[in-house]
Amino acid sequence: MSLEHRRKNTAKWWLRAAVILLLLLVPVLISGQKPMTATMVADSETGTKVMVLNYHKIDNTFISLAVRPDDFDEQMRYLRDNGYHTISPDELYDSIAGNGELPENPVLITFDDGYEDNYTNAYPILKKYGFKATVFVITSFLGKDKNYMTWDQAREMDAHGISIESHTVDHKSMTDLTDEQLRMELVDSKKKAEKELGHSVDYMAYPTGTYNLHIAEMVKEAGYKAAFTIKYGNVDKASNIYALERVPIFHTEDTRKDFLERIRYTPIFERFGWTKN
Ligand SMILES: [Zn+2]
Repeated sequence: MSLEHRRKNTAKWWLRAAVILLLLLVPVLISGQKPMTATMVADSETGTKVMVLNYHKIDNTFISLAVRPDDFDEQMRYLRDNGYHTISPDELYDSIAGNGELPENPVLITFDDGYEDNYTNAYPILKKYGFKATVFVITSFLGKDKNYMTWDQAREMDAHGISIESHTVDHKSMTDLTDEQLRMELVDSKKKAEKELGHSVDYMAYPTGTYNLHIAEMVKEAGYKAAFTIKYGNVDKASNIYALERVPIFHTEDTRKDFLERIRYTPIFERFGWTKN
């Protein structure tokens, strides 16, 4: 058999294998009540599922934590065109607590750390789509480090649908801290943000996502209503209110494809028990 022949045969074999695999997958994909693309999925046991997206920087530096503004704009447009509705952390909390209705396809858009580009790059795009969002800020960095937003910028965003919440005082990994240090990180950041913003600050996100049940208990004692991790998944009534799941969005080799996969497939991953816990 010539080399050309063999190559054609190999290609045919792969094509056939791909078709068979696809046919095998169809019943798996369409079975169950949960549709592939929706993130708000009616489920008799746990109710509405809410997707919480987690961003960091929105700029053109080539690091995975920095989603390019063009990509971010495209992602927001995708959410709008596909019927998603942005919500605030209060709306999420109220729905978990059993008070208040969520809109269809609810999504909570969050940013960690409080980078200045959230104000200069993300905020104008969010405004363009009329979207709400939430920024968890490292309170001692604001107005001190030029890479981070100022409190004036935070206040302006806070007055226009962007909730400013706590990401602790100085972003230490919480599992390395003593109780006294933990209390300081939680209480002082809350007080500082409340003083700067002029209203109560009820939510926090764990720096680098690290937490344990003891830390979660201290978050509760410090007066927060809920806390966010980087545990991959969607939030529903079965979620731990002090360890809420999020879906991290990164800059990758193919940011668009990876974004779509992450937001489309989370419910299916969950159904097979691949992400919870
Ligand atoms: Zn962080």
